[in-house]
Amino acid sequence: MSNRTFTMIKPDAVRAGNIGNILQMINAAGFKIIAMKYTKLSTEKAGQFYEVHKERPFYGELTEFMSSGPIVAAILEKDNAVADFRKLIGATNPAQAEEGTIRKKYAASIGENAVHGSDSDENAKIEGDFFFSGLERF
Ligand code: ATP
Ligand code: MG
Repeated sequence: MSNRTFTMIKPDAVRAGNIGNILQMINAAGFKIIAMKYTKLSTEKAGQFYEVHKERPFYGELTEFMSSGPIVAAILEKDNAVADFRKLIGATNPAQAEEGTIRKKYAASIGENAVHGSDSDENAKIEGDFFFSGLERF
């Protein structure tokens, strides 16, 4: 079990002015920020990031949305980081997310669901490396 995960605050949550609220919830849940940047994905970069979903019907919509505005990308550290962070963000579809989760509070739909969280230790490493060099981690 690794102690790091990767997250993005997605364009919908940035547009709604919820960067601060979401970072507050992440801090309150005990995650330490190891790396962070405010950036924007091109459609091509978003497509690369979500490559595993290439064959899914929502892939076009997803890459368009993820490149529609700036995001906040971050590497987070905590014991059991991947599983605990998935618990904090809640179900992919906010209608099914538990009370008190980030998606329940701030997500509007299954497509525009406020935050990303890695689904495995392996993907947490791949996704963190996609955005950050070794010199950008503290
Ligand atoms: P993420 O990887 O962003 O943390 P997730 O792991 O909860 O989300 P995935 O199955 O990996 O969910 O889907 C990746 C993203 O694709 C979702 O967060 C959502 O933005 C989008 N997505 C998933 N299912 C649908 C759908 N049925 N319709 C539209 N968009 C979807
Ligand atoms: Mg996922």
